[in-house]
Amino acid sequence: MRNQVAILAGGMGTRLKARTGDIPKPLAPLLGIPVLEHLVILCAHHGYKKIMLLTHYRHDLIYQYFGDGHKWDVEISYSIEKEPLGTAGALCEVLPMMNENFLVLYADTYVDINLNSLFTAHLNLNADATVVLHPNDHPHDSDLVKVNPDGDIVAIYPYPHAIEISSNLVNAALYVFNRECIKTVLRRGVKADLAKDLFPRMISSGCKLKSYITPEYIKDMGTPVRIDQVERDILDGLPERLSSRVLREAVFLDRDGTLTQELGYVTNPKNLELYADSSEAIRKLNKAGMLAVCVTNQPVIARGELTEHGLNEIHNKLNSLLGQGGAYLDGIYFCPHHPDSGFSGEVKSLKINCSCRKPNAGMIDRAVADLSIERSQSWMIGDMTSDIKAGKISGLKTILLQTGYAGEDRKYKIQPDYFMPDLTSAVNWILEGRKKMASQLISFVSESMNTRLVLIGGLARAGKSCAAMVMAEIFNVSGRNAHVLSIDGWLKPVESRIEGAGVLDRYNLDDLCERLYPIIKSKKRVSLEWPIYDRKSRSSCWMDPISIGPQDIILLEGVPALMDVRLREIADTKLFINVDMGERLKRIEADYKSRGECMEAVWDRITSREGDENPGVIDSAQYASLVIVS
Ligand SMILES: [Zn+2]
Repeated sequence: MRNQVAILAGGMGTRLKARTGDIPKPLAPLLGIPVLEHLVILCAHHGYKKIMLLTHYRHDLIYQYFGDGHKWDVEISYSIEKEPLGTAGALCEVLPMMNENFLVLYADTYVDINLNSLFTAHLNLNADATVVLHPNDHPHDSDLVKVNPDGDIVAIYPYPHAIEISSNLVNAALYVFNRECIKTVLRRGVKADLAKDLFPRMISSGCKLKSYITPEYIKDMGTPVRIDQVERDILDGLPERLSSRVLREAVFLDRDGTLTQELGYVTNPKNLELYADSSEAIRKLNKAGMLAVCVTNQPVIARGELTEHGLNEIHNKLNSLLGQGGAYLDGIYFCPHHPDSGFSGEVKSLKINCSCRKPNAGMIDRAVADLSIERSQSWMIGDMTSDIKAGKISGLKTILLQTGYAGEDRKYKIQPDYFMPDLTSAVNWILEGRKKMASQLISFVSESMNTRLVLIGGLARAGKSCAAMVMAEIFNVSGRNAHVLSIDGWLKPVESRIEGAGVLDRYNLDDLCERLYPIIKSKKRVSLEWPIYDRKSRSSCWMDPISIGPQDIILLEGVPALMDVRLREIADTKLFINVDMGERLKRIEADYKSRGECMEAVWDRITSREGDENPGVIDSAQYASLVIVS
């Protein structure tokens, strides 16, 4: 029988007194109804209709409000503690009335989780107790739980910690218990606490204590500040976005070169180092209710240079470091395999062609299933072309960073949807920038549904390629296929450019037009080969051919897009991107830095080119039917 729940409702609410007076903690209001009523509604909704309330302080008021529970279509019974025996002691008193397996909730915790999934997991694991854990953004002052790779809880470290504990998992105060197991480790009538006494005893007596880690919303509401936070979160829709009722949005992140410094293969937790902005960027995702999931290739395991246990320690360190910055990951997936065998010390069984090693989609597929993720609303961020390919195969939007390898592995000829200098810019783009740009473009795009060629011009680093991609996304959701082509691939090699000859001289626009004309005119599906420009090596290479249908829309973006009269003549509509000059210079600086160039050395070249080129580019804005500021 899976219908029984015990709710610990004996709290006095001392810390809430200033707000709620003498009323007991379970009756403290949250969005107009008692905190405990939210739990009763949750239980009723999931079919847990037999509710045992363990009360103590002002039992009379609680009974007066909830009675026998018929108002909520549940059966409520009460156990009134005369002497407070602690949470475990109170639970012991009601054990004879409980089913073999039952849920335990705390009346001062707001919970929006699927109770049935939790209960089913407990039964499937055949556990003595299942403890809901969640990654926490302040592990240094929390009771921490250590879990092994099989999901067994192996240790609990109460706060304050005598030594540094590399874990960020905390007890979320929500359990499923097996009645018989509690009986064997606890004596009735003795004061005891669930977290401090029962769980450590269960671990030491060899009981099966399992973890249940979920991104669903669970928050303790013991203080007025926390109640206010929960109310804000509910009004912002955060519990809903994280609930199992909807598919969740996620950001998949590569590890080395994306979250952490690219230092070759890390085999010791000591060598793992976050980028300075990683915690803050992940924290923003956490607050926005977007899952942050790390997917990392770890061939060091196949090579025998690191065990899975060792990798677990490294990832505990990663979680701790993020926790110190107030951030957490919702999951870490790794591929231990490697395809090439024949090295000494290798683990033969892991030297295989697997489906999880990026650019394969295996790790992402698993996370999508485990965490119920909506691919079309999710992203992959990485520093290598294998990350971008894995993201594309998985149906995610992709961002290539200029940190780590900055795409210079060049294993796959693939274009990311967006280039960003670092993780912070990528997260800001996902959460704010892209939406802001879409709102500026949406009516222009809907008026351009029947076009063939759209030109997008503006100064270097103004945000043209981002605008083009956002337009392509809007076209695509409206059922029109759109392709972004960059004019940058037609930049002449540096040695054949004449310094001071102007913008148009720097591009092979004759060749570009020759290639583009037949495509624009074609009434059939055609295959187009198009060059892409690599900023770091300052050279072009050919992309894999793109298939372009006769109704497809081509978005051609680049500095000279609106400057060339031939392009203007064949284009149906034109867009110019303006940008705040300070912001633009910041982007240019990030660009040069990522190429390892010193700003002082290139500054003269930049300023002379700017003076030479910018007036002509800015002048071309007159041909645009829309000018936006990125
Ligand atoms: Zn693998």
